[in-house]
Amino acid sequence: MFRTIADIKHAIESGTSAASIVEESLSRIKKSKHLNAFVEVFSDTAREAALKIDVKIKNGTAGKLAGVILGIKDNICYEGHKVSAASKILDSFQSLYTATVLQRLLDEDAIVIGRLNCDEFAMGSTSETSFYGPVKNNINSNFVPGGSSGGSAVAVSSGMCTVSLGSDTGGSVRQPASWTNTFGLKPTYGRLSRYGLIAYGSSFDQIGIFANDLNDVKVIFDLTQGRDSMDSTSIAAEPLPYDRTRPLRFGFLTEYMNHEGLDVEIKEKVNLLKGALEKENVEVNEFSFPYLDYLVPTYYVLSTAEASSNLSRFDGVHYGFRSGAAKGVEETYKNSRSEGFGEEVKRRIMTGTFVLSHGYYDAYYTKAQKVRRLAQKATNEIFKKVDVLITPTTASTAFELGSISDPVQLYLQDIFTVHANITGHPAISIPFGEHTNGMPFGLQLMSACNEEEKLMYYSEAVQKYFMK
Ligand code: GLN
Repeated sequence: MFRTIADIKHAIESGTSAASIVEESLSRIKKSKHLNAFVEVFSDTAREAALKIDVKIKNGTAGKLAGVILGIKDNICYEGHKVSAASKILDSFQSLYTATVLQRLLDEDAIVIGRLNCDEFAMGSTSETSFYGPVKNNINSNFVPGGSSGGSAVAVSSGMCTVSLGSDTGGSVRQPASWTNTFGLKPTYGRLSRYGLIAYGSSFDQIGIFANDLNDVKVIFDLTQGRDSMDSTSIAAEPLPYDRTRPLRFGFLTEYMNHEGLDVEIKEKVNLLKGALEKENVEVNEFSFPYLDYLVPTYYVLSTAEASSNLSRFDGVHYGFRSGAAKGVEETYKNSRSEGFGEEVKRRIMTGTFVLSHGYYDAYYTKAQKVRRLAQKATNEIFKKVDVLITPTTASTAFELGSISDPVQLYLQDIFTVHANITGHPAISIPFGEHTNGMPFGLQLMSACNEEEKLMYYSEAVQKYFMK
């Protein structure tokens, strides 16, 4: 099995063809069909691409990712291929263009193996709201993989592809990474172009990266990051370089570690890390972050507001699904949206419309914007004193499929991850341990904006000091 880009490179160098790497991946996908990680496997175009790449390999003109098998979340556009955001309303819609981030990987000869299942419109924490049925966790298929990028996490964790792209609006890359023992990066807001990513909450959305090792996260990040004229929020400046000779400075957040919902085993392991770091020649500080309890409500007010606006374009006329039982324009809109969207998406559109409505706008939307600003300020203050903040990625491990149906309980799954989306900071989840219940959990590291290099250096340091 090829788990990493290094494995693929090795294989190619010793004469394995890209075509046979694709076949290996396709047979693995077939064997893992029960996990429901893929909405569609692009067997034909993947095979075609592999043949072309094999010629390039022979000629010595192949790109840096020759032979690397890439999976994409079903909300990332790939020209000539279907994309549905796991929603009935986009069923059978085809992308007219390719997302910039994906194009940059194709330019390096990555092979796209298929589109990966997820929560509908990336709204969810379990990958159970997909129109195509729930994704199952490859570590224990009775359990959820996390969400919303559950398919992207499972496909990488089980070796169906080498690396994958997901999207992270409130934790959708880091939380499933934590629950599937993979690495998951959400870059600084604007670091990766959003062009070609189906919008959910545009001021939060970032494409994120799943991989089985840190080096692969770095490789994919370096190749995809940077200014894109098609996304005006993309950052023009280069990421800041990190001076590796500087002494390490770690920070921990009191309210996170004392949170009543935090599983005792996860808490103990993070505290063990803290103790171990204190014995090393590094600085360890603890900070209070009094806004923790306000983050999830703030996130849900603002993200639903943005979603209600972003999803208004799906009207039964422009894209995909149209209700057959409608007379006239108004009925077409109403019926198409009622029949095309799932329950959770409708709940979010209604919540978002409510918080933006006349009379409630100031009470909810404006107030949440203020909290966002306060949280940003407080976090930036902390990053003046410390380089990297450490928290658990998730308060618990994955749970059984179907075991939580209360939306508010599901929203609380994002308690530690929404912070970085609200403030725009980059954050990564790295595999951290196995619970006595047999399921994995991750550690989250967060840094100042544009300091992904530092974030990865610190991730390596934690692995070196603690995980070996
Ligand atoms: N679970 C969160 C939500 O439901 C985050 C989703 C995401 O990051 N796309 O909105």
